[in-house]
Amino acid sequence: MVSRRLLAVFALVSMMAVSVFGQGQSSAKPKPKVVVIGVNGMEWDVLRPLLVQGRLPNLAKVIKNGTYGKLRTVSAPNCPRVYSTIFTSTKPEEHGVTGFIVGGITANTNMLKEEPIWSYLSKNGVTVGMANVPATFPVMPVNGYMISGMLTRGKDCEDGVLCAPRLSEVQGGDAVYPATLKAELLKNVGDFHIDCERMPSAEQLRGHESEVIDTWLKKVDVIRADQTKLFDYLLTNHPTDFTWVVQSCEDRTGHWLYPIAPYNAGYNPKINAVRTDAFPNQYIAFDGVLGSVLKHIDENTYLFVVSDHGIKPLREFEETDPHAHMDHEKTTPLIAKHDFADGDDVPGSFVAMGPGIKHDQRLMGFEASVYDITPTILHLYGIEQPKQMRGHVLTEIFETSAEKVAQK
Ligand SMILES: [Zn+2]
Repeated sequence: MVSRRLLAVFALVSMMAVSVFGQGQSSAKPKPKVVVIGVNGMEWDVLRPLLVQGRLPNLAKVIKNGTYGKLRTVSAPNCPRVYSTIFTSTKPEEHGVTGFIVGGITANTNMLKEEPIWSYLSKNGVTVGMANVPATFPVMPVNGYMISGMLTRGKDCEDGVLCAPRLSEVQGGDAVYPATLKAELLKNVGDFHIDCERMPSAEQLRGHESEVIDTWLKKVDVIRADQTKLFDYLLTNHPTDFTWVVQSCEDRTGHWLYPIAPYNAGYNPKINAVRTDAFPNQYIAFDGVLGSVLKHIDENTYLFVVSDHGIKPLREFEETDPHAHMDHEKTTPLIAKHDFADGDDVPGSFVAMGPGIKHDQRLMGFEASVYDITPTILHLYGIEQPKQMRGHVLTEIFETSAEKVAQK
């Protein structure tokens, strides 16, 4: 039941939001704090058993205090395609970033044909901080800072596709806005990797499988530790109203080290029987990153944990399709993927926690979609959903229907 008093409070908040955002008046009222943690290819099939075993204590805590479920994604999902859909709440054909490569060149922010979330927030006076978010290279000016993520080009990573240039190795565009922040990060955080490590080739693996797998996983640990340090530094020294940080190594690991069984397509015991814990361990490590971010989150902060898609072992008949998993594979023997024609085969994940968000509430089916993230965040800041956006405000995650009232 909605109390009259609560409705009145929401109406008042709503009016204040209109006066601040609508007429550009200044106000002492602090803006909501929102933190989004993106995880590429976070897969409920692998998360669930780990949650049952109590091995993801931080994620379990957020779920218990929040609302969670699957996140419907687009067809043939991959990071740039879905992230740009999240940024703009428009279809890939509308925003223009339809995949890793568009018209023969690596997808980049200059291709975006629809206005993204950071632009709407910035022009409404919300401070924005983004780090390692895929498909944000070259970085764009915001009311805060932006550090690019996946698809950043650099030394030994000329096409920017699924490789890991260090900050000092970036080429062909700016990876940090404002430019002055780059030197500060190099000094105080170090020369961190912008994206996750490239997967080893079939050639590198042959005859050295265990050794290559172990070396690769150690590198992934280093990359994650550096990025965790980066997020902690930014949240401590450059707090913003809206912050969005992303991890990419989980998906990369799943593609070739998903713990498949001998009956799965592509099973090779020399690779797939070596480190069956490698992929689940990524989520355990991610839970540590989440714990580090949670230190910066109080009960008045909204937290969203969002993945663009899941990842599943090969199915259907990809082996006979020359275009199968072309986005990720160079020659790595892939055993799991996400660019299935039907995006509902690989839904993403969604967890939200914060003031007024339901506790321990599960969204069934596909109540939430990648189109809904930006309208919901804009709504928290009292910004009306722009007409071209296809999603809706996720009113179902809030405690009362008062949020629906606040929309008007
Ligand atoms: Zn992937």
